[in-house]
Amino acid sequence: MSFKNKVALITGSGSGMGEATAILFAKEGANVVIVDWNEEAANKTAEQCKKFGRVLVVKTDVSIDEEVKNAIDKTIKEFGKLDVLVNNAGITREHNLLSGNIMESCDLVLAVNLRSVILMTSIATPHLIKTKGCIVNMSSIFSSMTNLAVRFPVYAVTKAGVDCFTRVSALELAPKGVRVNAVNPGPVYTNILVNAGIDGNFDDYAKATPINRSSDPEEIANLILYLASDKARSITGSTYPIDCGMSLM
Ligand code: ADP
Repeated sequence: MSFKNKVALITGSGSGMGEATAILFAKEGANVVIVDWNEEAANKTAEQCKKFGRVLVVKTDVSIDEEVKNAIDKTIKEFGKLDVLVNNAGITREHNLLSGNIMESCDLVLAVNLRSVILMTSIATPHLIKTKGCIVNMSSIFSSMTNLAVRFPVYAVTKAGVDCFTRVSALELAPKGVRVNAVNPGPVYTNILVNAGIDGNFDDYAKATPINRSSDPEEIANLILYLASDKARSITGSTYPIDCGMSLM
């Protein structure tokens, strides 16, 4: 699965699953573009990737059109092409209808988790067509597990939207040689939980899975790498649970 001479742009690669993905692509020989609104975190990831190859950091808020365009422009200027786009940046917020707070962060969560995927894909598509590249989108098992999603309705809607957009963009881009897939993680301990103040009962949540554990960010990165590789050349429009069996429950 060598990614030698390939260019991979990973959004939200300052921490968590995006960070693990950027490091793995770098280890596999890719030139990586670290895109994150947290510049300090992005630079830390870049330091690790630099041990293996060329790296570009572009401080970007993926919900802002001009910043996304700038990230793609800088990628093409630096590396001349784009082979792999990983739409991973994300946030979550806990709310529900009865608490009355659902609108407080609704637009923000929609913009960062869903609109950004459409935006990034639309700007990257002409470049991915040139390289017959591919896209891997970060979804979640919350896209289909309604019993979990009830505390995170807007987050869950964004991930269901990511699954849907994965399928429709895969269908539209297939004749152009561009594949699009998504991964749907279950429990993974990352800052997204800490930032939303919902990390407290993580161990119970992880232990409730059929295989009694959570996934490491590196395990999610391995699936993303596989889907982006030539070994997955017949896979497109698919959404892959990687959830310790949680979606079976
Ligand atoms: P997870 O890996 O579970 O998604 P993290 O919070 O560790 O959780 O990683 C998400 C990454 O996405 C962080 O590095 C964060 O800075 C980044 N991110 C969140 N919102 C944006 C945004 N609007 N633009 C760019 N990056 C973002």
